[in-house]
Amino acid sequence: MTGPVAVGDVPFFDRARETAPPEVLRRWQWERLAAGLGEVWSSNVFWRGRLQAAGVGDPRDIGTWTDFTRIPRLGKAELAADQTAHPPFGTNHTHPVDRYVRVFQTSGTTGRPIRWLETEASWAWWARCWAFVFRGAGLGPHDRLFFPFSFGLFVGFWAGVEGARVLGAMTIPGGGQDSPTRLHAMRELGATALVCTPSYGLHLAEVARGQGIEPATLGVRTTVHAGEPGAGIPAVRERLEALWGARTYDHAGMTEVGAYGFECVQQAGLHVNELEFIAEILDPESGQPVAPGEVGELTLTNLGRWGAPVLRYRSGDRVRLARSECPCGRTFMRLEGGILGRVDDMLVVRGVNVFPSALEGIVRRFPVVEEFQIEVFRRGVLDEVRLLLELDGSAGPSDGAQTTVGVAEAVRRDLGIRVEVAAVPARTLPRYELKARRVVRRDDARP
Ligand SMILES: [Zn+2]
Repeated sequence: MTGPVAVGDVPFFDRARETAPPEVLRRWQWERLAAGLGEVWSSNVFWRGRLQAAGVGDPRDIGTWTDFTRIPRLGKAELAADQTAHPPFGTNHTHPVDRYVRVFQTSGTTGRPIRWLETEASWAWWARCWAFVFRGAGLGPHDRLFFPFSFGLFVGFWAGVEGARVLGAMTIPGGGQDSPTRLHAMRELGATALVCTPSYGLHLAEVARGQGIEPATLGVRTTVHAGEPGAGIPAVRERLEALWGARTYDHAGMTEVGAYGFECVQQAGLHVNELEFIAEILDPESGQPVAPGEVGELTLTNLGRWGAPVLRYRSGDRVRLARSECPCGRTFMRLEGGILGRVDDMLVVRGVNVFPSALEGIVRRFPVVEEFQIEVFRRGVLDEVRLLLELDGSAGPSDGAQTTVGVAEAVRRDLGIRVEVAAVPARTLPRYELKARRVVRRDDARP
């Protein structure tokens, strides 16, 4: 590289900024926050109302980091209520709607989709944030990034494409294609990186093998995953790496917040991009910060999207805070183990707290399992779990029996619960290009 490449107001190829002392990062955050609050106060009905309700009479009332915590945490339900009351875009926009150049919406995994508007400036900001993700994974202008994604209303990989452009890499779009066509394009066009959900990364490899193509021979050296926490689960990561013969990187972002988390080549947890976000790890109940090493809810404020910002947004993601310096030299905070799960997706199985990601971590240790589903059903007054496993085509009847017993034993040993485990016929469980929904509630399930 010939030096920092500026996009918008902040150069993103600037090692000095990424390794700045934490107090310097804090000062930069504050400067952008103060400027943004002033802008939002003047014309954003949603935020002005929320701040006034919290007793803020002027944006200058937020003058210290202690004042900052006076801003009430924002939840997804409040955004949904605002959009229901003021369709179709709600009131969280700082400019007249004509100023916006893009609209996106959430995938609706956890309720009604939320819409989001982007200005030219905030779209450039998204691109910059994704460039951090790719650069963190060691990608550069010599790479060709393949995006097997149906380019619809979900923002994630659209912004990824923009990030690749900012990086100077080549984008190979994989929309409107079935999996075999995508594999063909990857080979023909020399893809060096695959960018998709972890579930789809596994699925695409499975399709390749079904066609007699060993995915590791396709030349992909890096895979970058978003949309689900899977790539942060060690067993999922190992499997993706083995299948593709590549290094696998996790990325975390949300439509409401932006692309905030990335892994560096040290892979010591997810870095939060503290040049573009203020991150707080808070006890979900008390709202108080947790100590390093503790688990809390990630709460985020974005600093480059003032056309439709979030301040202190409750991501719903459970994370473990690490503050020690990363061997890569970045001073950004790290989330140890990536996203550990959702605050609200915990299952209580016979009185024991279990996160679906923990079950996935066990299931993925069995390479013969191609897809799985977690059925939750009620027996008497207690919730029970049944794991449905779909095995790959090479599995014989004895593999099925061995695997179901093996998984049940591992769950009992590692999580301390008994679950039913059953094998289901090939191609009966759904496949996902976007957020997988592997937990299903079946109150009609046989007892
Ligand atoms: Zn690092």
